[in-house]
Amino acid sequence: RGQQVKKVVVIGGGITGLTAAYYLQKEIKEKNLPIQLTLAEGSHRMGGKIQTLIKDGYVIERGPDSFVPRKAGPLNLAKEIGIDGKLVSSTWGKSYVIAGGELYPMPGGSIIGIPTQIAPFITTNLFSITGKMRAAADFILPRSAVTDDQSLGRFFRRRMGDEVVDNLIEPLLTGIYAGDIDQMSLMSTFPELHQIEQKHRSLIAGIKKAAAETEGEQKNGRFMTFTKGLQTLVDGVEAALEPETIHKGMKVSRINKEAGRGYTIEFTNGNVLDADSIVITTPHHSLQSMFPSHSFMDYLKEMPATSVATVAMGFDQSAIKKNVDGNEFIVSRNSDYSITACTWTHKKWPHSAPEGKVLMRVYLGKSGDETIVDLSDDQIEQIVLEDLEKIVELEGKPEFTVVTRYKDSMPQYTVGHKKRTETLYRNLEERLPGVFVAGSSYEGLGIPECIEQGEKVVKKTLEYVKD
Ligand code: FAD
Repeated sequence: RGQQVKKVVVIGGGITGLTAAYYLQKEIKEKNLPIQLTLAEGSHRMGGKIQTLIKDGYVIERGPDSFVPRKAGPLNLAKEIGIDGKLVSSTWGKSYVIAGGELYPMPGGSIIGIPTQIAPFITTNLFSITGKMRAAADFILPRSAVTDDQSLGRFFRRRMGDEVVDNLIEPLLTGIYAGDIDQMSLMSTFPELHQIEQKHRSLIAGIKKAAAETEGEQKNGRFMTFTKGLQTLVDGVEAALEPETIHKGMKVSRINKEAGRGYTIEFTNGNVLDADSIVITTPHHSLQSMFPSHSFMDYLKEMPATSVATVAMGFDQSAIKKNVDGNEFIVSRNSDYSITACTWTHKKWPHSAPEGKVLMRVYLGKSGDETIVDLSDDQIEQIVLEDLEKIVELEGKPEFTVVTRYKDSMPQYTVGHKKRTETLYRNLEERLPGVFVAGSSYEGLGIPECIEQGEKVVKKTLEYVKD
C-alpha cells in the first residue's frame, strides 16, 4: 500500500514564504517524501516587500536595499540557487546624522550608537560636553535590575543619557524599525545588549570587547545585495520552485479546522484547498483575519505596524551643486525635517545608476509620524526636495521620482513581544496543530532573520507531517 500524500500549503510569497517553500521542496526531493507542496501568494507577484525596479540603467529598490551578511541564511540561499556570483558589497563611505538641523559625521567606531572608540566620541560636536559626561556614566552605573523586558528607550537612556539617545541612537534605530524606541522591546530587538550589560556592566566596555572579538567578520563590507537588486533573490527562488507549486493571485480569506485532522483554506476568489499542514508567512493582521473565531489571535489586531514610504530620485550629476562626501545620513527627531533618512545610492551601490547620474533614496514615515505616507506623489516629492535642498543644493527637478508606499508594513515589537509570540506559538500548537507562522511579524524583520525563520519552520513542518 502506498504512503498517503500529505498536503503542505505555504501562504505568502515574501522572502520568508519563498525560503520555506524552497527548503521544503529540497527536502521533499532529496528524501523522496510523500508531500504535495503549494505556495499561495495573494498578489500577482512574488517577493512581498522586496521589489526592484530596473529603469533606464538604474537599479531602484522600492523596499529593502540590502542585507547584513552577518548571518549565513541569505548567502546560503544565494549559493543554493546559483546566484552567489551576482552578489555585491556596499562601498565604504561616511555616514552622517542630522541633529538639531545640523549635519554631523557619525562618530567613528560607534555600534548602534554606542561608542567603542573614545577619541571620536570626545571630539564630535554631535553632543554637548554635558551629554558626553552623562554618557560616560555608563562606566560606573550599576547593571539594570530589570530582568524581564524593557523598552529600548528606557535601557539606552539609563545607560547613555537622553542626548546620545536622541541625537544618535534613536535615529539609527528609527532607520531600521521606523519605531518609537520608548515603546520598542529590548528583548525582541537587541537581547545581546541586555546580556552585555549583565556581563560587563558597562555597555561601552562590553560592546568594545564584543566588537574586537568579531573584527574579522566586519571586514566583509557592511551590506550586500545583487547587481540587479534583491529581486534577483526572489526571482531565483521562484525559478527554482516547480511551476505547479506556485499559485499567484490566491489570497486566503479564511482557514477552517476540520473535524479530525486537517484544514480547509478558503480563498477570496472562491477556491478552496485542503491542507494537512499550513505555513503562514503573511503579516500578522492578515494572519488574524484568517482565524476570526480564535480569540488567542485577537491581540494581533492591536499589534502596531508602521506605514513608511521610500522615494527614489534620479538626477544628472550637474544638478547637484554641493557634494557631500558620504553614502548616507539619518535624521534625528529633534530636527525640522520630514524625511527620516537618505542614501546616496549611486555611491553606496555604484551599480545602481548610470555613469554621470545620481540616485538618491529617501525614507519617510516613523511611528507617530506616518500621515506623510498618505500624501500625493507630488506633495511627497515637494517635501523631499525641500529637505534635500537644505543639504545638497539642488538645481532643477529630478529626472524621475519613484514613490513607494508601504502601508502598515513595519511590524512593531513593543515591550513584551517575545513573550506574546511564544504564547502564540504555544496556542497554535495546542489548538491548531500543523499550523505554523513565520516572518517579519515574529522573530526579526531583517531579511536574514526572515530567511532564518523560513528555514526553521521547514523543520517544524516536516516533523509534524511525518507522524
Ligand atoms: P512580506 O514581504 O510582507 O511577504 C508577505 C507576503 O504575504 C506578501 O507577498 C503578501 O502579498 C502575502 N499575503 C498577505 N496576505 C495574504 C493572504 N491573505 N493570502 C495570501 N498571501 C498574502 N530588511 C533588511 O534586511 N534590509 C533592508 O534594507 C530593509 N529595508 C526595508 C525597507 C522598507 C521600506 C521595508 C518596508 C522593509 C525593509 N526591510 C529591510 C524589512 C524586510 O524587507 C521585511 O521584513 C521582509 O522583506 C519581510 O518578508 P516577509 O516574507 O516576512 O513578509
